[in-house]
Amino acid sequence: MNNTPLVRLTDKGLFCEAGGFYVDPSKSVDKALITHAHSDHARPGSKSYLTVKQGGLLLKHRLGRRINIETINYNQEISLDGVKVSFHPAGHILGSSQIRIEYKGEVWVISGDYKIEEDFTCEKFAPVKCHTFITESTFGLPIYKWAEQKELFNEINSWWKRNKEAGITSIIFSYALGKSQRVIAGLDESIGPIYTHPAVEDINVCYRESGIKLSATKNLNEFIDEYHSPGAMVIAPPSTDFSQWANKFHFYSSAFVSGWMLIRKNRKRTSFDRGFPLSDHADWEGLLQGVKHSEADRILVTHGFSSPFVKWLREEGINAEVLQ
Ligand SMILES: [Zn+2]
Repeated sequence: MNNTPLVRLTDKGLFCEAGGFYVDPSKSVDKALITHAHSDHARPGSKSYLTVKQGGLLLKHRLGRRINIETINYNQEISLDGVKVSFHPAGHILGSSQIRIEYKGEVWVISGDYKIEEDFTCEKFAPVKCHTFITESTFGLPIYKWAEQKELFNEINSWWKRNKEAGITSIIFSYALGKSQRVIAGLDESIGPIYTHPAVEDINVCYRESGIKLSATKNLNEFIDEYHSPGAMVIAPPSTDFSQWANKFHFYSSAFVSGWMLIRKNRKRTSFDRGFPLSDHADWEGLLQGVKHSEADRILVTHGFSSPFVKWLREEGINAEVLQ
């Protein structure tokens, strides 16, 4: 009897030997199946890439126009060396997928990054039943519980409004791919104009070309010397040299939008005036829902607080292991 698991972790990442492919490989491989275009999942150098249609433009934007890429629809089943493969919405960012792998009656699902909550800039998470579920655990501790996004957007818009009344610019720092577009989609355009750092605007273009409706934005040249637009909202990636770039706006208030702000927002150590804990990952309850809805016999946990999450699952009688 062959005891090789259908999917195993190798030095190049998750490998399905029977199908001859890797999922989100960390190094160059012949065939890479990509759950989504974030840089810790989509890396350059592989001979061929497979992802969903909604993620194709983003992958090309990230890895270069000349990559050898094939795209398929969500829920479309294909065969790779006799292994059935399909992609299903993960609700994380545009084009994010869980990958279902079936061979000789055994089904595995690799979640990639996911969130359960609805997001108007991507397809909603769709549970997929399987025997083995490989789940992320970025926020796999009970302290991580997200507020309703409606409440958070109200807070963000009120903060912007108050800044406008005070005659200052609001600057939101958020990841260029996914989070920034979600923020833009939730902003109240009636408050004022929305400007974007070019790194964010490039991704906005991909989103709009993929049919996602975003509020109107204007690209801000990153080489501007100074900028006066009291009352405007500016969206920039956190990698932008915060103080140097932000100082071009003279009078501003800054905020960082990230799930990590849930525990940091009240600390004085953060260099931002505000923190809004909006995340594109499942919170603790979301992870538990992901596990439950998979109806899997076995849970393999990766990416994040894997050990405490596995410990908790085991105490609940669930067969779980850390995927080392
Ligand atoms: Zn991601």
